[in-house]
Amino acid sequence: MTIAHATQSQATLKPGTCECPVCGGHDAFVFIGIDSMPVLIGHQFGSAAAARDSARGPISLAYCAQCSFIWNAAFNPNLLVYDQYDNSLHYSSVFQEYTQGIVARLVNAYNLHGKTIVDIGCGGGDFLEMLCASGNNRGIGFDPTHEGDLNPAGRPVTFVRDMFSEVYGCAGGDFICSRYVLEHVPDPGAFLAMIRRSIGKRTGTVVYFEVPNVELILRDLSVWDIIYEHCSYFSAASLARIFYDRGFHVHRLADGYGGQFLCIDAIASAMEDRRTPRHHELKSIAGEVELFGNEFERRIAAWRARLAEWKSLGKRAAAWGAGAKAVGFLNMLGAGDEIAGVIDINPNKRGTFLAGTGHRVLAPEELPALRPDTIIIMNPIYAGEIRERLRGMNLDPELMEA
Ligand SMILES: [Zn+2]
Repeated sequence: MTIAHATQSQATLKPGTCECPVCGGHDAFVFIGIDSMPVLIGHQFGSAAAARDSARGPISLAYCAQCSFIWNAAFNPNLLVYDQYDNSLHYSSVFQEYTQGIVARLVNAYNLHGKTIVDIGCGGGDFLEMLCASGNNRGIGFDPTHEGDLNPAGRPVTFVRDMFSEVYGCAGGDFICSRYVLEHVPDPGAFLAMIRRSIGKRTGTVVYFEVPNVELILRDLSVWDIIYEHCSYFSAASLARIFYDRGFHVHRLADGYGGQFLCIDAIASAMEDRRTPRHHELKSIAGEVELFGNEFERRIAAWRARLAEWKSLGKRAAAWGAGAKAVGFLNMLGAGDEIAGVIDINPNKRGTFLAGTGHRVLAPEELPALRPDTIIIMNPIYAGEIRERLRGMNLDPELMEA
């Protein structure tokens, strides 16, 4: 696998050649090019060989100076199949606490009692069921990957195993939520316009969206968060702008989960009733984009050198967190047996293999046998949780953030 700046790569696009899919602006330029990355990040492969042979595609990250939107201009949606998808963070107590806080705030702020709640891209339906339980609401969840009963007995929820589309109207929803979906949508402007049309004249309907915060990715130089499945990356500015332009009033826009996510409460409004997004919501990220483009290769080279050094010293390393970030990290580094395995607390991932590099996913209980010298923590927010698990097993490896 090779990594190159756009100007050096065959697979990527030349600067200045792309049109922004969100605002139609022509000031967009490609600032990151990766020739080949695995495509099926959430897929759990049954063998290392299958994981290594899985589909690949190029990434050309483009930035629009006009609306701050960042997207993969080389994205091909046909390469993706969301048949099996388990990147749920639900197993982490830190994440559960975070989610409970959101549920409590939304129920309180929008008086969600006895209402109908629509969740677009609900996954297993955890969030939807929490919202329903907290306010005696009823819920309809849309997700083509939903497993399990569509009408679970004794629970106030119904699931539709399909993408949400206009044919469902707004499904009678008083409140519409969608978490970690918009970053998977290649034309998020059209998607939001479709949702706005489905709401129609029912202005006042609140929508709540949550997406990864590209400002944190840029600021922390989190190059591993660039993954094929995420074709759209939002800053506060581009998120405020895209909702505003598609007929929503931006009521609240904040970051959450240590700044990793952007949370937007928007209200379907008549075009003349929308307030223009506030100044701080329209802050340019041009400087951060430039810095990220410059530091991208340097960061990868530094990690490759570190892995090579560990290998020569006979040090055993493992990663913790078999999510999308680990797939990005391991594949951008072209990591092999320098990393003995990837630990994850999600029991469904145990014994499966990560896309691209084919690293095996281990349960924490397998660590005493592995006895790694170093553990690379994929997401620093879990550092405390991980330290506690290690102490419980009388293990004291060096911990490093990816
Ligand atoms: Zn734009």
